[in-house]
Amino acid sequence: MTAPVRTRIAPSPTGDPHVGTAYMALFNWAFARHHGGQFVLRIEDTDQARSTAASEEAIFDALGWLGLDWDEGPNVGGAYGPYRQSERKATYAAHVETLLQKGHAFHCFCSKERLDAVRSEQQANKQTTRYDGHCISLSADEVATRIAAGESHVIRMRVPEEGDCTFTDRLRGEISIPYAQIDMQVLVKADGMPTYHLAVVVDDHLMGITHILRGEEWLNSVPKHQLLYRYFDWPMPELIHLPLLRNPDQSKLSKRKNPTSVTYYRDMGYLPEALVNYLSLMGWSMPNEEEIFSREEMVEAFDVDRMTTGGPIFDQTKLSWLNGQYLRRLDAPEYAQRIQDWMLNTAKLEQLIPMVQERAERLSDLLPLVNYLLGNLPDLSEEHFEHKSMERADVLKVLHHTLAAFDEMRDWQRDDLFALCQGMAQAMELKFRDFLFPLFIATSGRAVSLPLFDSWMFLGADLSRARLRAALELIGASKKERKRLDKEYQAIKAAIDSAPAPT
Ligand code: GLU
Repeated sequence: MTAPVRTRIAPSPTGDPHVGTAYMALFNWAFARHHGGQFVLRIEDTDQARSTAASEEAIFDALGWLGLDWDEGPNVGGAYGPYRQSERKATYAAHVETLLQKGHAFHCFCSKERLDAVRSEQQANKQTTRYDGHCISLSADEVATRIAAGESHVIRMRVPEEGDCTFTDRLRGEISIPYAQIDMQVLVKADGMPTYHLAVVVDDHLMGITHILRGEEWLNSVPKHQLLYRYFDWPMPELIHLPLLRNPDQSKLSKRKNPTSVTYYRDMGYLPEALVNYLSLMGWSMPNEEEIFSREEMVEAFDVDRMTTGGPIFDQTKLSWLNGQYLRRLDAPEYAQRIQDWMLNTAKLEQLIPMVQERAERLSDLLPLVNYLLGNLPDLSEEHFEHKSMERADVLKVLHHTLAAFDEMRDWQRDDLFALCQGMAQAMELKFRDFLFPLFIATSGRAVSLPLFDSWMFLGADLSRARLRAALELIGASKKERKRLDKEYQAIKAAIDSAPAPT
């Protein structure tokens, strides 16, 4: 009897829940469900500085909203837990000890300066940049002495010096990568935390994962993983690397060019089943080429060998069309229910009340006040951005620099947004009021609206960014202008970073 299918996704809880995570989850889920197996949710939070509980919660919410249920995970338990990597440190330590004992891994005491120098030299000689093996043959005594003296160190894996690593990807066939291109990967960092490469292999094995469906960006890591499976003497799960979602210009889908947060699509009024349907079309098609199908129909018909490897373009227009098809199929009570689920519910209204209460005289003032927060903006034109004391160039700068700064923000907090805008206005030598003007227009479509910072908090990062991006496109900076603006933004950022903190 073959082992039951077990798949997993292993997102890192940093930032907003990404549509790329939902896309990977969907195919892992469909594969497991089709085969009557299990789908596991594991949280890869070894990067303690960037991982947050809020982001983890948002991943649960996003997947739950899409109806991609998991059988095991941090919030539901399971026989193979714990399912957060930060809670599995002892397991990784025990496994790395095995590798050290068998001579498959070694301690490395090289300083950052030494590693940088090695890298620079390799770059200058046009060689593959990789660790040069400096610490590989230190004696056990020397290692023990240096550790006892408290010297900072990492643990690296050994890699064969010659030959090729050959492995099979179910969609791509046999792939060979020379070992000479593979780095002696750090397995345990100086702070004692495992790296992704160690943790993913140990966890996938101990959690009984039979099939790994993940993004193609991990293909180049397979040789490291395959070596670890060999060192541990474990069978390797089957590998299925899926194509990455792309922006319309073919680059990897990024929040700079496209809204990427599942929350954005929920708040814009896409239906979860339409988004799931759309995401499935990004990598797969029904045998009968039918474009509109339910999750259940997909599970029934799912065949991983029919997946494509070409980079699918995430196309908002097509998604909206598909969503419209789903809306037309609802009857009136269902439609009404969806609108309630979306925004017209007590929880959402309560978020709006503090913004409107001081400004309304009748309850009916609500909609005119908040319409830009609930729906799409009316079409704007360049005239909307005309201002008595600001030139087009200033407007362009404000929009460009604010958007660039928003793209870099990890957290979306009112105080941070406020401090950021104040710092930028100062660095750009604009009055704060003037600086805010184009942002008001871009966000709300009008010069006077509800407080801007509250509006951004309500809209969220993705929607706020999307509005600034649309305004920037409307004003239409040329390629040359954009290049200059990018440079100018870097200078402004440096000026803000070096300015004394406001007291
Ligand atoms: N944490 C990795 C990611 O989010 C997981 C990669 C994998 O599935 O192996 O991309």
